[in-house]
Amino acid sequence: MATLGKAKILKQINRKHILNLLREYDEISIAELSIKANLSKPTIMKIMKHYIGKGFIVISGKGSSTEEGGKKPNIFKFNANGGYSIGMVITANKLRAVITNLKTEIIDSISVDLDFDEEVDSVIDKIANSYTRLIDNSKINSSKIIGLAIGIYGITNFDEGIVVYSPHYPNWGKNIKMRDKIKKKISDNIPITLDNISRFQVFAEKTLGAAKNVSNIVSLMAGYGLGSGIIIENDIKRGFHKIMGEVGHMIINPSEEMLCSCGSRGCFEIMVSIERLKKIISDKRNEYPDSAIFKMSDNGNLKNLAPEKIFEAYNGKDKLAVLAVDDIINWLAIGLANIILIYDPQVIVLQGTYIRAGDNFLKQLRKKVEQISLTSVKKDTKIIFSELGEMSGVLGAATYVINRFFE
Ligand SMILES: [Zn+2]
Repeated sequence: MATLGKAKILKQINRKHILNLLREYDEISIAELSIKANLSKPTIMKIMKHYIGKGFIVISGKGSSTEEGGKKPNIFKFNANGGYSIGMVITANKLRAVITNLKTEIIDSISVDLDFDEEVDSVIDKIANSYTRLIDNSKINSSKIIGLAIGIYGITNFDEGIVVYSPHYPNWGKNIKMRDKIKKKISDNIPITLDNISRFQVFAEKTLGAAKNVSNIVSLMAGYGLGSGIIIENDIKRGFHKIMGEVGHMIINPSEEMLCSCGSRGCFEIMVSIERLKKIISDKRNEYPDSAIFKMSDNGNLKNLAPEKIFEAYNGKDKLAVLAVDDIINWLAIGLANIILIYDPQVIVLQGTYIRAGDNFLKQLRKKVEQISLTSVKKDTKIIFSELGEMSGVLGAATYVINRFFE
């Protein structure tokens, strides 16, 4: 029995290896695969037959060189449309969803409004409806869906598919068995993954984004709330209680007067928030009455002022804007210096609102981190802006499904 089990495992390993070679090389012949995989041609032929039957591999044409007997060999190709993945994220006011092919090329995407304090069952209905709509819109057979992954703000138990707590939806209560609830609403029997959105955001940076193929990455979404995703030695890290990366509530300035959403003072999240950026500006209004910011805002009311306006003034060297943004940079640098010591990443990818502040912001931030970090570390840790924008979460979720499927 033991040997039979081993043979089965070996067969699976060989199959995955061949499929991954096909994903890596666009087009390849049996002879080339045989050399690269170190397997006999008949074994490879058998594996190819299996995957052609499943639609993951297609014959794309004939090779130019001739094999023994003068026959031109078949050239095989990975079929990017052999399966489809669905990624979704739930934010404070939106459900975003995409369907992609196996190369994470977007086939269709939709966005559905969510109410502030929308009930969990209503959100689940919208997830199920979006799932069906994406499949219908792309006119594919639902049997080709390889999985669904959903990113959520808040503490999420990835193993159990449970939302422990979501700060955006306190009315959901605690420990919601979200994955089971979604499973009941979706007729297809597919793997469903639930995780904190930051984990998919950092995964997107590694697979599609600015930190492509980097092994040790920390992503940091800051501005409104704060989330962080961590990849160490190519693995997404979650921690024993699945709270790894909740760095938003590291206390970095206990003497701060503003209260964080968690009830503490001086959390990283509040220190670098847009809310605090605006408060610094408001508090200094009497000292800088001529600041460009007040001319751009609605009678000096900053509540509805887009952060871009403040960044515009900052880049135009408006004194108050520079003072306020520099204050944020200062605390961001302190938080990042701590993160560097805890996780020792090669790359930190900054996501969210501050990207819109532009290159000068990034330059100042790097300088500040260098000043306060350990000398040996400061040279190596790169701090960069994300290039994925608001799609990083959904694309990361869709890619996560694909990678898991082929692993
Ligand atoms: Zn806090």
